[in-house]
Order: sequence, then structure tokens, then C-alpha cells
Amino acid sequence: MARIYIDMDEVMADSSGKLASMYQQEFGIDLTDALLKTEGKVYDLALSGLRTYVRDYLHRPDFFADLAVLPDAQRVVERLNEHHEVLICSAAVEFPLSMVDKLNWLKQYFPFLSYKQVVFCGRKKNFLIGDFIIDDHIDNVDGFQGTGLLFTASHNRSETRFERVNNWLEVEQYFFAKE
Ligand SMILES: [Mg+2]
Repeated sequence: MARIYIDMDEVMADSSGKLASMYQQEFGIDLTDALLKTEGKVYDLALSGLRTYVRDYLHRPDFFADLAVLPDAQRVVERLNEHHEVLICSAAVEFPLSMVDKLNWLKQYFPFLSYKQVVFCGRKKNFLIGDFIIDDHIDNVDGFQGTGLLFTASHNRSETRFERVNNWLEVEQYFFAKE
């Protein structure tokens, strides 16, 4: 049994999709391509004036409450949870309003997980002790003592140093193909 840390935003939950749709609604601009092109934070956009707005969305009440679940995440996380020690780790503390939303979101879409499997932190995740981390942020995969699996997001496409999983079907294959 392995200990596997799983990130929430951009791995379980489609936060960039919601950012893009909010921006489209408010300003009539399609952010799909511009969003997430920079390495690092999802809201760290280079476009002038954009960053403030996008960052502000993440601090709004309810932003995290109704994010879409990424395809196959529920089924594969449940399967992982049956065979391994699964811990959900999100750097949520920067967005205090997100924490209740995130717990409720997990309860709604991943009811098989207990609150005891949730770790909220306010820093990069290289302090974690475990076998695997599945995360879209290079900072969290880099320096992790176990195996880092970089979950593909637009902002990390050019990264080549880490093992990569493009979606949850690939995560499933990675952990179960040999069975
Ligand atoms: Mg993330």
C-alpha cells in the first residue's frame, strides 16, 4: 500500500475552466488560451490588468463550491482509495474562504473520503512524507521525496523533468496496469 497525495485544483477540480467562464461573462474575453500559460500560479497572468481580476475571483465566496469534477477523477480516486492510502492535499490556506467550500465539495463528489484524509497547507508541498504526489504545479512535484506525477495543465505543458499523467485514465493505468 502506497501513500498517495492528490492535489485538488486542476487535478480533481476544473478551477481554470471556471475562471475562464467568469472572465468571459464579466469582460466578454475568452481566456482559454491566455489563462495558465505562465508557469506557476493559475492566476499569475502576464497580460496587463488581468491578474488583479483573476486573482480576485479566487477570493470570492463560493468560487470553489461548484467546480466541475475532472473526467474520471471520481472513479479512479475511489479505486486508488480502495488499494492505497489516499490523502488530498490542497494549498488552500491562501484562500481562507475556499476551505469550507473545498471540504463540502469533497463530501459531495468524493463521499468515500473522510475528512481525516484532507490536508490543507499554505506552502509548497515538499514537506510531505509519502510515496507519490499527483499535482499540476511543478513546485509541488519538484523536491517531493517520493515519485512526483505531474498532472498535465496548460501552464506545465513545456515541463519535461517529471513523469507526466495527462488525465485520470492515465493515472489509473499507472497504478493498476500491472495487476
Ligand atoms: Mg493544483
